Amino acid sequence: MPIAENIYRSHDYKFLIQRWRKICQSSGLRMQKICESDNYPCFEISSSVLQNHDVIYLSAGIHGDEPASSLGLLKWAESNLNQLSSFPFLIYPCLNPWGLENNSRWDANRTDLNRIWKDPQNILIAYILSRTNNLTFKLVLNLHEDFDGQGVYLYEPSRGGKPSGIAANILRASSSIIACDPRTMIDGRKARNGIIRPRPTNPPKDGFPEALHFCVMHRCLTITLETPSEFDFLLRINAQSAMIEKAVSIFLQG
Ligand SMILES: [Zn+2]
Repeated sequence: MPIAENIYRSHDYKFLIQRWRKICQSSGLRMQKICESDNYPCFEISSSVLQNHDVIYLSAGIHGDEPASSLGLLKWAESNLNQLSSFPFLIYPCLNPWGLENNSRWDANRTDLNRIWKDPQNILIAYILSRTNNLTFKLVLNLHEDFDGQGVYLYEPSRGGKPSGIAANILRASSSIIACDPRTMIDGRKARNGIIRPRPTNPPKDGFPEALHFCVMHRCLTITLETPSEFDFLLRINAQSAMIEKAVSIFLQG
């Protein structure tokens, strides 16, 4: 049965992977099964031009109750087939398939997979750490949602000095879809116009997240996008897709 390209299903992992298979067939991307996690197959997607430097790393779905992250990434990919085949992308479309299917932040063992990047007890995260160990990155983009969110926002770890303007540029790409979160404190951290600039020396107390791992170990620009998960589903997908498109285009030009 043909798949309607403008239809999304929020917690259907098989459907998500089917759509990625189609993208890979059309764009020449490589789709590789890495492992089984909680009895679900996990996949890595890479461009044929992938080398060990200047990689653009995109990941989504580490928290299963944040489905517009995986579906926004899917939408972006379906609209950018040419780009996908021409640039060095390394993509993890869903890091927590059990969580996606069960609408759960955690995996089947009640582990928050975004807190174990220092000492991973999860086969997929352990694989990604060794897979990426010798790579250098142009951009790392981690996609999330927040049930307290009142708009879109992002984390751009502070490296000292003035903000580059990249973060504001990315948020602006969503402004006609979902405006930026007006809160001045988000998740216990100061926010300004939807931008949080945490210091890498001040990690969350309950563990080590994916973004911090890349920021500290690879010293690359790492951005975490957040859409408000209580907002309309299609708006969130469109907001994620628009911000991914902007972030990637900034780095492909630069
Ligand atoms: Zn999350």
